[in-house]
Amino acid sequence: QHAKKNRLHLQIYHQQIDVNTLDRLQLVNDLKPAIEHDELVLFYQPKLNLKLNKVTHVEALVRWQHPVRGMIPPDSFIPIAEKMGQMNALTRWVIDQALSQYLQWKEQGIELSIAVNISAENLKDDQFCHYVLQAIKDKQVPIDALTLEITEDAVVADPEYAIKQLTELRQQGLTLSIDDYGTGYSSLAQLKQLPVQELKIDKSFVQNLMVNEDDQIIVSSTLQLAHNLGLKVVAEGIEDEGSLKWLTQRGCEMGQGFYLSRPIEAKALTTWLSQSAYS
Ligand code: C2E
Ligand code: MG
Ligand code: MG
Ligand code: MG
Repeated sequence: QHAKKNRLHLQIYHQQIDVNTLDRLQLVNDLKPAIEHDELVLFYQPKLNLKLNKVTHVEALVRWQHPVRGMIPPDSFIPIAEKMGQMNALTRWVIDQALSQYLQWKEQGIELSIAVNISAENLKDDQFCHYVLQAIKDKQVPIDALTLEITEDAVVADPEYAIKQLTELRQQGLTLSIDDYGTGYSSLAQLKQLPVQELKIDKSFVQNLMVNEDDQIIVSSTLQLAHNLGLKVVAEGIEDEGSLKWLTQRGCEMGQGFYLSRPIEAKALTTWLSQSAYS
């Protein structure tokens, strides 16, 4: 009960901070040149396949290396980028970068499929599908090189159009994933109307799994429901060995979290992988 209250409080607090910071720092003006001048950088976090005990996927998470302000986390600039109509440029940059990285790893004999986060603005863009499919074609990467992670709030603005775009991407063979499951207001039955194959349980239910019985109930019911609906499940926010074991025992397909690795730069991930038991 207490943990739940904290969770809610934290989310509200976080949003307020974001808006203020954005106004104060006037990051908006800087973002467009930042994309052009390569100030953005992708970090990668492993997604461990719990059946194979092997890292088969990574999630690409953007950071902004601001020349004056230093490293800015995505939660501090993605919301402005959304408001200021910069998300199409940003996501295109992320996709290009991720596919190039896929090829670099492939050259080194490392096969890692990359998950990219997409936002509401992207799904409203009528060129989005075309851009993604063309990028895959141009770079000559297999369609399963890329997974798209979508939060439910990216869909609620215009569900019909979003479903149209996602269906087209799915028909071409892309893997689609629902991100941050459990933090929004949609039921799984509603979300299942999206053409998705994967569900990511939000980290707020996973981080305290070993000490919070409510979270255990929520996560095991979600696993059952998702599996009955034919979805694979990724647990994000695994911070200890106990949670990793708990999830593996209950048939969760994939796990991601600081216990395995924080998001790190591509080179560091290559090193991490070569030294880990999971390659
Ligand atoms: P997300 O897609 O849900 O990504 C997972 C976030 O949880 C990442 O935060 C990651 O560092 C963090 N995380 C992973 N494991 C753990 C853990 O064990 N403990 C804790 N406390 N946190 C963990 P990050 O990198 O700060 O990204 C935050 C959010 O920003 C992402 O949440 C995503 O919604 C958004 N984002 C990041 N990159 C992009 C991007 O390229 N495009 C879009 N549209 N959104 C992005
Ligand atoms: Mg994500
Ligand atoms: Mg998430
Ligand atoms: Mg998130």
